[in-house]
Amino acid sequence: MENKKEMRNWLDAFKLEHPFVIAGPCSAETEDQVLKIAHELKDSDVSVFRAGIWKPRTRPGGFEGVGEIGLKWLQKAKAETGLLMGTEVATAAHCKLALEHDIDVLWVGARTTANPFAVQEIADTLAGTDKIVLIKNPVNPDMALWLGGVERLYMAGIKNLGVIHRGFSTYQKTKYRNIPEWQIAIELQNKFPDLPLIIDPSHITGNREMILEVTQEALDLNYDGMIIETHIDPDNAWSDAAQQVTPDALKQIFKDLKVRKVSGDSDFENKMTKLRANIDIMDSNLLELIGKRMAVAKEIGQVKKDNNVAVLQNSRWNEIQGKVLDAGAKNGLSSEFTTKLFKAIHQESIEHQEKVING
Ligand code: PEP
Ligand code: MN
Repeated sequence: MENKKEMRNWLDAFKLEHPFVIAGPCSAETEDQVLKIAHELKDSDVSVFRAGIWKPRTRPGGFEGVGEIGLKWLQKAKAETGLLMGTEVATAAHCKLALEHDIDVLWVGARTTANPFAVQEIADTLAGTDKIVLIKNPVNPDMALWLGGVERLYMAGIKNLGVIHRGFSTYQKTKYRNIPEWQIAIELQNKFPDLPLIIDPSHITGNREMILEVTQEALDLNYDGMIIETHIDPDNAWSDAAQQVTPDALKQIFKDLKVRKVSGDSDFENKMTKLRANIDIMDSNLLELIGKRMAVAKEIGQVKKDNNVAVLQNSRWNEIQGKVLDAGAKNGLSSEFTTKLFKAIHQESIEHQEKVING
């Protein structure tokens, strides 16, 4: 598969002057809920209404979706509002039912993308369709697996493709539900600049307060659109309650987002904004890592205190210096720079340790 300009045709056909938006509840719950939300979203920037009909739950016992009946509700919502309809498919049976009910946008969920057998089954069932098919990143941070999903669909003659970045699961506690690992999406985007890239801030953040900030970061990186879980009564949603926003909150997000016009003359500015956003992400990763290093230094301070050992040990500092100079050189960094950087980091570490020992 290689990058082709035609990859964007389906998106360009919308002729939008703003990013492409998919919105709607995590899950279709009742006919009334689906219709109410769809009506609220009808005269807005939303092009596609989303609702999960079959819900893959990590643990059994949760709400697993209303199933086929929900497709009838989506059909009704489409007839009443004119919005296109989208849902997640995970098996051949889901695909057949979604096609029978003329669902316009089908997406492959994160748990499914992680399983090449399942993706192949979907590709075989949807072969040759002109429906829009979007593939979410796999739950684990693996670019090849994500790309492999796109390739399987593409090779089945599905041309209206796009990818959704929904973050990656991690065992660590972070402020995100699924950490963005922006560099993975950026790598995919650099390989396939014309493959539409959509941000899913709902599943990245897990928390409605952070939706705007993550969507803005994505737009700064030139993403093409967003999929945002939207519910008339988020707190009482049957799934993903904490991350859903009301239709009014969604409209406020549209107002607050800074959207850059992509045009010929602002090519320079677009490139710069994207590169700077990339740098900002790396800077924040760097600082986060240095913060984690300080936390380890504090633990060392505690062990030194318990054993009554001095904070500064010259032999250790010499050892660190030797190692980092080597590693720095391998990464193209001058020895002056590496030395300066690590003197500063080491000094900060000592100060953190001293606080533990004296405090
Ligand atoms: C969803 O979109 O509701 C969903 C289940 O997403 P993901 O596959 O990203 O977990
Ligand atoms: Mn959800």
